[in-house]
Amino acid sequence: MQHCNIPIFIPHMGCPNQCVFCNQRSISGRKSFDVRTVREEIERALQTIPAEAEAEIAFFGGSFTGIDRDLMISLLRTAQDFVDAGRVSSIRLSTRPDYLSEEILGLLSRYSVRHIELGLQSMSDRVLAACRRGHTAKQARWACRAVKAAGFSLVGQMMIGLPESTPEEEEATAREICALGADAARIYPTVVFYDTPLCALAQAGDYTPLSCEEAAKRSARALRILCERGVPCIRIGLCASEELVSTETVYAGPNHPALGELVWNAYYFDEVRTLLAREKLLGRRVILSVPEKAYSKVIGQHRANLSRWYAETGTEICRVIADKKTNEIRVFPEEYRNLKEEQPCI
Ligand code: SF4
Repeated sequence: MQHCNIPIFIPHMGCPNQCVFCNQRSISGRKSFDVRTVREEIERALQTIPAEAEAEIAFFGGSFTGIDRDLMISLLRTAQDFVDAGRVSSIRLSTRPDYLSEEILGLLSRYSVRHIELGLQSMSDRVLAACRRGHTAKQARWACRAVKAAGFSLVGQMMIGLPESTPEEEEATAREICALGADAARIYPTVVFYDTPLCALAQAGDYTPLSCEEAAKRSARALRILCERGVPCIRIGLCASEELVSTETVYAGPNHPALGELVWNAYYFDEVRTLLAREKLLGRRVILSVPEKAYSKVIGQHRANLSRWYAETGTEICRVIADKKTNEIRVFPEEYRNLKEEQPCI
């Protein structure tokens, strides 16, 4: 069944922190928040959702469990009315690891909250400190375990390219997210927003924003770990709202409208290279057979991966077959002719 989130953005409310990368108003695209408009917003969104889809109200943006308690309850009750009326299936929210407690989880369990997304960002205390995140990896581990123990679905959010962070620490974070039982994950390459401490660091030359290419490569490493452990990655990169991509809000960094696609391209570049090496086909003329649904992800935007495999390994992909019947990527030497030409593409 198709799943649709109805995102309600709660900007920076109740959050006394200042993570170096955060300008919540830019991310949410909203300057102020009025709880009275939430019901109308949900009604409006429901009109655009197909009747057969499963809809979920998703409180994103700030730290939901850190906002004023009365306001939080009022938002939960508003969402619950839609659940009770059978118009949405459940509630999703995002928060910080240190804004959860047994008491808050008990409160959330009285409503139809199904998914709790935790902004973990990194499991390295060094990186968390450099980001002035205000919590430790130990607190993050406790929160993940507590969410799972309370019976919620856990979504771990992590960031790529934070100050002081290395690709190895990002891989370690992805591994921990999986080990802590996450049901899904999101990967956010770090974008530098104006009016943030990170912007000041970048302007002073004390932080170098990732290029899109670097962000794609590093994200692909984390993505591989999630895929190998069967944890779905439900989002890569920030949502490209018009305000977000405007030059008024973003100073620098990998804010590409198709960043997710670039990450998958980088992921499959490595997958195929590994396969070519295993089959001893590096440097040869090769036929590549890919699952039809992954076709564009594997060959890359503007077929960039074909040029890259040639440039970096000397391997010439002379034909690509999009196979409807398999989930597997396969490689064959050019002279292997016994292949069904279901959809020869080059
Ligand atoms: S906790 Fe969340 S809302 Fe608060 S400063 Fe950090 S990223 Fe922004």
